[in-house]
Amino acid sequence: MNSRMRRRGPAPGTDGKDDVTDELQDGAGVVVLAEPRGFCAGVRRAIGVVERALDRHGPPVYVRKEIVHNAHVVSMLRRRGAVFVDSEEEVPAGSVCVFSAHGVSPAVRTTAAGRELRVIDATCPLVSKVHQEARRFARAGRTLLLIGHADHEEVEGTRGEAPERTIVVESEAAAERLDLPVDTPLAYLTQTTLAVDETVGVVDVLRRRFPDLVGPGTDDICYASQNRQDAVKELARRTDLVLVVGSPNSSNSIRMVEVARLDGTPAQLVPDVTHLEPGWFAGVGAVGLSAGASAPEVLVEEVLDRLRDMGYGRVQMATVATEDVVFSLPPAVVDPRGGRT
Ligand code: SF4
Repeated sequence: MNSRMRRRGPAPGTDGKDDVTDELQDGAGVVVLAEPRGFCAGVRRAIGVVERALDRHGPPVYVRKEIVHNAHVVSMLRRRGAVFVDSEEEVPAGSVCVFSAHGVSPAVRTTAAGRELRVIDATCPLVSKVHQEARRFARAGRTLLLIGHADHEEVEGTRGEAPERTIVVESEAAAERLDLPVDTPLAYLTQTTLAVDETVGVVDVLRRRFPDLVGPGTDDICYASQNRQDAVKELARRTDLVLVVGSPNSSNSIRMVEVARLDGTPAQLVPDVTHLEPGWFAGVGAVGLSAGASAPEVLVEEVLDRLRDMGYGRVQMATVATEDVVFSLPPAVVDPRGGRT
């Protein structure tokens, strides 16, 4: 450990105090902690919705799919009385049912209404924005090219806005293979948690092939995904190994690992502290640590504690942005007298 000594320059916009070289010289391992990391505004809101639904209605509160993609969060809410189901059809008629942060298709809403479920919608407002765009482009008669991963819940929900005219495009290669007349009126949308660079490449291919292509007014990649990816790039520049705390089904966490690796630094997804493998740290002097948008800070703290025990006792910050986004809770869990349930 700490056997490697590299001279690195200070991070842009810093005074160089966090240059890791000194730390390596005196033999102490360094952890560079990303800021921002962990919970985004959409995840905070979604967890708050389930907690307040439990407070207001008492258990069980049914939640369609994992409220956010993190096993720790799901376990915590399950202990409080949340019941997670794969389909709204599993929810007893008339029960309280929360839709997850990833959004649902109109067909799911119709089924839920038919079962007279008392729906509380925890869809992230930034996902709802993509749904609105899908409806607008579909009304305008355009075929929708949805850039994302076909099996992701968010993509399933967005595609459901206009399933007969939506094609999911998973990669640049898939964009090259699209078999459509060159003058087809098209619109592209993206899953909110993709890697920014990856999306740009797909859009470039689409623009080259199809002249009548329009896109959303602003990028669909959400601020939280963008900031966490930017921070991971900074970690990759300054450290020998990047760790991203997040669950294996967390799309944005996986993208963060990929972003670090694309910058040439080994990176690992760490669901929790028990998944740290000593072999990763051979010759590593500085460890970068971040967390996906659905990973609670307590998991980061546990990893930090373990790293300290392993000799990485010096913590430095890599701050790339300050986040102050807060999404208000839906009216269904806000007390009409002004307080919250
Ligand atoms: Fe919303 Fe972005 Fe968080 Fe997803 S990652 S819940 S889109 S803020």
